[in-house]
Amino acid sequence: MTALRFSGPVLPTGEPAELYVVGGEVTYERQPGAESVAEGWIVPGLVDAHCHIGLDAHGATTDEQAEAQAIADRDGGALLIRDAGSALDTRWVQEREDLPRLIRCGRHVARSKRYIRNYAHEVEPAELAAYAAQEAQHGDGWIKLVGDWVSREEGDLMPSFPAEAFAAAIEAAHEHGAKVTAHCFGEHVLPGLIRAGIDCIEHGTGLSTDLIDEMVARGTALVPTVMQTDKFPEYVAAGAERFPVYSRHMDDLYRRRREVIMAAHAAGVAMYAGSDGGGVSAHGNIAGEVIAMHEMGLPASDALGAASWRARAWLGWNATLDEGAPADFVVYPRNPLDDLGVLREPTAVVLRGRRVG
Ligand SMILES: [Zn+2]
Repeated sequence: MTALRFSGPVLPTGEPAELYVVGGEVTYERQPGAESVAEGWIVPGLVDAHCHIGLDAHGATTDEQAEAQAIADRDGGALLIRDAGSALDTRWVQEREDLPRLIRCGRHVARSKRYIRNYAHEVEPAELAAYAAQEAQHGDGWIKLVGDWVSREEGDLMPSFPAEAFAAAIEAAHEHGAKVTAHCFGEHVLPGLIRAGIDCIEHGTGLSTDLIDEMVARGTALVPTVMQTDKFPEYVAAGAERFPVYSRHMDDLYRRRREVIMAAHAAGVAMYAGSDGGGVSAHGNIAGEVIAMHEMGLPASDALGAASWRARAWLGWNATLDEGAPADFVVYPRNPLDDLGVLREPTAVVLRGRRVG
């Protein structure tokens, strides 16, 4: 197979290089006769740390729709995806050389009647730990819990389960070798989850200073899904009549979200980019999330690192394009650190050593 040649500054250092791809791996050893493919800024394959392949607004998609979602994500530069819960069995995606690398969470585990219909295993507190253990065995080292949701009885955002039930579920997943993450919009669910050793918080709009410090001490990650929290005004409007308390609560969380994200960033919480593609959001838009994180106030290098080198290391992949690293990278016509908008126009996308876009 002919070697491929790329040239340009390689991020995160920006060191100019002639980068070759041979046998699916990166090498900087000169390859005579290599096919020159592209010049530009070379970035380690982007990561979407919160995405749902195989899910649309109504539940599980068909395999064909899931394939189209994965291709859209890949073409947007996301070459490694942590799937944050899917009602479809997407193991087959991992057999496909042309689709992004996929780390599955299995199916969401939620409280009965307290989540989007057809998405989750809906269970009662006594069953939670058993389902956590089950999904730990179905997934790829992660499970996804729905931490809080609107309770129709109480008319407000409420923790889905008592803190003891969450703690037992986290322990059960850890015993089966899986990390745990949870959807959390509000404040009340967070102390119990963080103190029980949860590995990651999704959305996290209800975080407070003391919990942020605890996350730093414990190494708990945060995926703030800024494009998802951009939608809170829609939830505020939709809930205003039936659930006025919930609606005001969501409005308050929305108003404080920038302060929360920037406090977490300043304290040093490990933060990663997640588009929340699937369900109600479009696939293929990890660029939009990096831009949204930057607009919240994160420096461009932190926002891009949260979707590339730092996220790759967090998920157990090569952070940087060192000699011998898997050849997963994206080439851009300009330096994304000067203009994150260029993330929407990749010149070349290389996955497993093959140009796919
Ligand atoms: Zn999600």
